[in-house]
Amino acid sequence: MSAYPQPVRVRFWARVDRTTTPEGCWPWTGALSVGGYGRFTVDGRTRGSHVWALVLGGVAVPEGAVVRHLCGNPACCRPEHLSAEGGQRENNLDTVEHGRHRSAALDGRRVRAMRERYAEDRPPLADLASEHGVSESAVSAALTGRTWPRAGGPLKRSRKRTPDDGGRR
Ligand SMILES: [Zn+2]
Repeated sequence: MSAYPQPVRVRFWARVDRTTTPEGCWPWTGALSVGGYGRFTVDGRTRGSHVWALVLGGVAVPEGAVVRHLCGNPACCRPEHLSAEGGQRENNLDTVEHGRHRSAALDGRRVRAMRERYAEDRPPLADLASEHGVSESAVSAALTGRTWPRAGGPLKRSRKRTPDDGGRR
């Protein structure tokens, strides 16, 4: 079991802003890395602050395991918003095709919401991409069902096959 001494936990949580609503995010207040993730070092070992949030709470997160943000906010350290590796079934597919970091913010629920919104408003893919913190290709793949095939929601049809569908208006 990974038992970290109290001072480490105190030092960690002092850098997290927990003044929020009951469901709100707990953002890391220290420096953020390029992807928007916090970093924290214990005994010379640097990992993402969201990873430490679980590890310091007694959750074993193996080296290289993916910790996903269910809230899509990379800086968030709230344990309830984090999922360690768990979402395997769907997440694997996603990871293989698009690389861990770009699609880490998606989960089945968000994909379904994205598909429903697209079916209604046809927002530009770039908008959806920035809203969800993923690449446009990840959005496109999710909308067409190439990834997350079982997440539900209306799928976007390929424009080439059905030229009459959705082009005008
Ligand atoms: Zn959050």
